Amino acid sequence: MSQVDFFVISNKGANVELIASSFAQTSEPYVFAKIKNSSNMFAIDLGIGDISEPLHPDIQEAFKEAIQEMSMRSIGYGPEVGHLFLRQAIAEKERVSPDEVFITDGICPSLSLFLNLLKPTCRVAIPSPAYPQYRSALTMRGMTQLVEIGDPCDVMILNSPNNPTGEAMSRDELGELVDKARSWKALILFDAAYEAFISSDEIPHSIFEIEGARECAIQFSSFSKSSGFTGLRCGYTIVPKNLAVHPIWKHYLETNTNGVAYPQQRAALKALEIGPRIEGYREGARILKEGLLELGQKVQGGEHCPYIWWENDDFDRLAQLGILAISGEVFGAKGFVRLSGFASHDNCKEAIRRLNG
Ligand code: PLP
Repeated sequence: MSQVDFFVISNKGANVELIASSFAQTSEPYVFAKIKNSSNMFAIDLGIGDISEPLHPDIQEAFKEAIQEMSMRSIGYGPEVGHLFLRQAIAEKERVSPDEVFITDGICPSLSLFLNLLKPTCRVAIPSPAYPQYRSALTMRGMTQLVEIGDPCDVMILNSPNNPTGEAMSRDELGELVDKARSWKALILFDAAYEAFISSDEIPHSIFEIEGARECAIQFSSFSKSSGFTGLRCGYTIVPKNLAVHPIWKHYLETNTNGVAYPQQRAALKALEIGPRIEGYREGARILKEGLLELGQKVQGGEHCPYIWWENDDFDRLAQLGILAISGEVFGAKGFVRLSGFASHDNCKEAIRRLNG
């Protein structure tokens, strides 16, 4: 069949027999895509964990300057692994070598791409509750042997600070899991999306602060939540050079991507220079958590991550009050609700007022 035939059939939606069976099983829309479509029906949106503040002016400026530079001279394909100016700055922050840093367009796409390198027969441990992308991306790849964190496995996906619980793992907890991974010769995929929100020196910002992690771990990081890049897109993956997968991941990116746009990388460099912009979201989480505690509710999180994990099985009441939250079931936990502190402070206060009334 020619490419043209393929696309003609594909447009008619009649090509299901061409689709790998693991993908065909996941034809339901991704859960957050459904939630996004419904969110404008609710006056108070504490649902999706998306930014609500504009880009910092210095980041806007860096982006615009990069575009201007591109109008003065040709800046074409960059290195598929990212421009050296950004990899060097990240390497300094993360205390790794620049050739261990791979610039990506965020954690979600890079973690998914990384799974393509693994055998579908791998036993994968995922957190419970978990960010739903993990299960969805694994299922698409036919990776259905899922186990609990702490059980013997080949691959361990860790997320600290955690979405949805808002809690972070201690140095000791991470240390135990690194030791286990090493003894099983397993690979840890560490999702550090909320690293910037950590507010205690006791909590590691990077898996590589843990002894032995360079022998078993890969870290996925992003400017999305720390610097308002959810719409701009830029992140990075750290793969220690001594891991067998290092040259393979490099080759994979070279083959399957043509890198991340130059202005995004310039903007990301500026974001690194000015540091995280998260105080407003921290405050949103604080308003929600304190308000709920005053109402006698059982809540956790909010301190190292702007999510509040609330023991609550009356999801319908929230809908009646016009408050959009995410049911714990989305993350695999019944009887809980996740509230997002990324909302405006007015919305956070109004939600507490409605719950009180
Ligand atoms: N990882 C976790 C745990 C998240 O909660 C999110 C977004 O909500 C992401 C990754 C997505 O990050 P990115 O915007 O870098 O793709």
